Amino acid sequence: MDLLKQKVEADGVVIDEKILKVDGFLNHQIDAKLMHSVGQTFYEQFKETGITKILTIEASGIAPAIMAAMHFDVPCLFAKKAKPSTLTKEAYQADIHSFTKNTTSTVIVAKEFLGAHDRVLIIDDFLANGDASLGLNEIVQQAQATTVGVGIVVEKSFQPGRERLEQAGLKVSSLCKVASLSGNKVTFVGEEV
Ligand code: 5GP
Repeated sequence: MDLLKQKVEADGVVIDEKILKVDGFLNHQIDAKLMHSVGQTFYEQFKETGITKILTIEASGIAPAIMAAMHFDVPCLFAKKAKPSTLTKEAYQADIHSFTKNTTSTVIVAKEFLGAHDRVLIIDDFLANGDASLGLNEIVQQAQATTVGVGIVVEKSFQPGRERLEQAGLKVSSLCKVASLSGNKVTFVGEEV
């Protein structure tokens, strides 16, 4: 997606060789028009696959996920980071390690919102090691639903996320692929020297 790439180039801040900050349009302030196009692109890619639900994780996956849900005209469901008091038998749950925070948290999805009939598109803002998407896929499996694919806004292709998701049999579609964050600069896949 050219528009997204331009935005990453213009507004992305390289924190270190592994982390890119995109608070200007995705993770803090949200560019709604850009997210609308992101949602539309996911729709174009998966419109023939019978998606019944978009699944993401709070908080930063929600903006692209809700825009995708609008185009598919299906509900957007987000996994909540559980507090011990909210853990219940009425929820599916998975432990997810956060790449940016280096902590592991349990996330939950109420059973009433996901069932065996569902065909799910998992959406997230970034793909790094793949733990968030794999955890969401685990929740889909607990519900005996089907993960049709994983839609990612920014894939960091120098990290093993895609390989791990594909090994798990998941189709991954990312809208922007970062090859490297070395030298305090974003290099996209296909533009390496
Ligand atoms: P993974 O689970 O694939 O290792 O990491 C994906 C999750 O970590 C995403 O939900 C995202 O919130 C966060 N994340 C991973 N890498 C980055 C990054 O470079 N920048 C930002 N802003 N978030 C990231």
